[in-house]
Amino acid sequence: MTLEERISILTRGAKYDISCSSSGVGRKNAGGQLGNTKDCGICHSFTADGRCISILKLLMTNNCAFDCLYCLNRRSAIVPRASLTPQEICELVIGFYKRNYIEGLFLSSAVERSPDRTMELLTETVVMLRKLYGFNGYIHLKAIPHADPALIQRAARYADRMSVNIELPSERSLKLLAPQKTKESIVRPMRLLARSYLEEKESKRFTMIPAGQTTQMIIGASPDADGTIMRLTQNLYRIYRLKRVYYSAFMPVGNPTSLLPAVPASLLREHRLYQADWLLRFYGFDIEELLPPGANLAEDVDPKSAWAVCHPDKFPVEINSATHEQLMRVPGIGATAAWRIVHARRYGTLDFEDLRRMRVVLKRARHFVTCRGKYEGLKNREPELLRAALRLPGAGPLPNGRLPGRSGGAQIGMFEALSNTETTETGLSVLTGQF
Ligand code: SF4
Repeated sequence: MTLEERISILTRGAKYDISCSSSGVGRKNAGGQLGNTKDCGICHSFTADGRCISILKLLMTNNCAFDCLYCLNRRSAIVPRASLTPQEICELVIGFYKRNYIEGLFLSSAVERSPDRTMELLTETVVMLRKLYGFNGYIHLKAIPHADPALIQRAARYADRMSVNIELPSERSLKLLAPQKTKESIVRPMRLLARSYLEEKESKRFTMIPAGQTTQMIIGASPDADGTIMRLTQNLYRIYRLKRVYYSAFMPVGNPTSLLPAVPASLLREHRLYQADWLLRFYGFDIEELLPPGANLAEDVDPKSAWAVCHPDKFPVEINSATHEQLMRVPGIGATAAWRIVHARRYGTLDFEDLRRMRVVLKRARHFVTCRGKYEGLKNREPELLRAALRLPGAGPLPNGRLPGRSGGAQIGMFEALSNTETTETGLSVLTGQF
């Protein structure tokens, strides 16, 4: 098999892993090295579903000894198999970097032979890239469940970011769909990376995974409810200090099995989870306020609007006197707009026209605020009427559960044409979280 054929197989195998966006580390080139990392991230282009495409996203091998039923690379799947050596990966990265095709590497791998052997090869690759080739650019590396902690820790010294994929939201689902993995085998490296990251942060050294760790969960492959998923997410942020949790709507790939749904999971559900995730991280919400453990997020309105409709006692708030926390809870006022309002109030009182200029989405916000005592929302604030008013035209689920304006949710591979991709508001809102 030629190198190009192997790259084609291994980039295709990596495209379902979406936990790859870069950010959070700015490291200057010390001279004689190749590349820099950038605080703002290096994702210059976005696919139609909001995912970035400027990092070389690659598997070291797709020859897997494990048999996770949802995965294209599982042992029992009939797909072409390929592997690359650490040397080949390094030459590829440096070659692509010099041609200005990429600015960083996202390296993952199937479990070939054993977790320790796989982790050893991944570590060897990053060490070689950094030490032998002087590559100073961004590297995101997968940590392999069940691998020796010492190997993971060594890899963390050379990678900017690492991730261990949670994959499924409950141990029961893991047992059923990924029988070789256990909750402990995933949580152990996560705990280890969290400890290393926090120790480095406290000592202000930042020599180990300065951009922290992320993870990914597959949504809709198991019957776990959004309430369960978001509780797990909250714990991951609070206990393991994860930088991001990514949600990936399940897509049937490879040979079908009766243990998995036959149709793709709803992208609208994935989108609502990202919105709820943003509320936990940036808007001061706690999952207990948003939904009970066994419930799913509403699909007809975003989670903040759904919360506001259920709390009529908290609204309307007066824009000119509300606290920053209160403003952050108003549907239609994003984090940036809330700060703009607080800042602008120092120079005078605000009216609805000022809010419009500050990019507040008045279509939603007007039902929850007053400006100088004036209210412009629905006169009858019955929850059903309010909810109906908040449903944006075309924002409801399409018959197949997909979002309007998104092109089918297929992941993009390195060798696939980009001509049909488009940057949609939906995709970007996932990334910016302004809603
Ligand atoms: S370990 Fe599981 S998820 Fe990872 S490549 Fe192998 S089959 Fe896929």
